[in-house]
Amino acid sequence: MGIRENIIVFKEQLPSKVKVVAVSKTKSPEEILEAYHTGHRIFGENRVQELVQKAEILPPDIEWHMVGHLQTNKVKYIVPFVSLIHSVDSMKLLTTINKEAEKNGRIQDCLLQIHIAMEETKFGLSEQELKDILNSPQFAEQKNIRICGLMGMATFTDDEKVIRNEFKYLAKVFHQTKSHYFIQHNYFSVLSMGMSGDYSIAIEEGSTMIRIGTIIFGEREGPNRQS
Ligand SMILES: *Cc1c(COP(=O)(O)O)cnc(C)c1O
Repeated sequence: MGIRENIIVFKEQLPSKVKVVAVSKTKSPEEILEAYHTGHRIFGENRVQELVQKAEILPPDIEWHMVGHLQTNKVKYIVPFVSLIHSVDSMKLLTTINKEAEKNGRIQDCLLQIHIAMEETKFGLSEQELKDILNSPQFAEQKNIRICGLMGMATFTDDEKVIRNEFKYLAKVFHQTKSHYFIQHNYFSVLSMGMSGDYSIAIEEGSTMIRIGTIIFGEREGPNRQS
């Protein structure tokens, strides 16, 4: 099967409330267009330079999502056009995004990334760090940021129990955060969890947005799981 069939068949079997981010990192513009021509519009990348280069040459109605770790010095390249940043993991990054969004006259939609995996290498905030950000006066002043939900990456393991527990924990933090901080804000509605290897567990645990590369585009060359 090719990309076209992969994405059509994959999306058909999903619950309608779950959105798919087609993660196209390392894939060519031609491969992305094959998915685009099925009507799919949400694509994700994990590197700023690749994201910017692809956005320049691909159709302007693509909704680009930044799913990988983001450095403050690169924020300015993506804020002019990116639809959603999944990987916000510090107050410093939020402050920079807010400043750039203000310059561009935009409100930047973001997710806060929570550390849920056992692996030390994964990025993300602890529950306490999340609360510290949401309680800070500095956050309250950031008028050009809209926090739309949370994102997390489970441990890379075959142990379904471990993965399920991590997603359960993220879903719990998501619901608590919604009821404490965003109860009157319907935009806080995105729970981004699940990749090619663990999306069905993620959906069972309440995911509303899955980030899918391999199932749509096939295996990537080289080590590129980590973002
Ligand atoms: C690469 C990547 C994905 C997609 O991975 P697959 O296993 O190929 O579906 C999802 N999220 C992030 C943050 C990624 O870097």
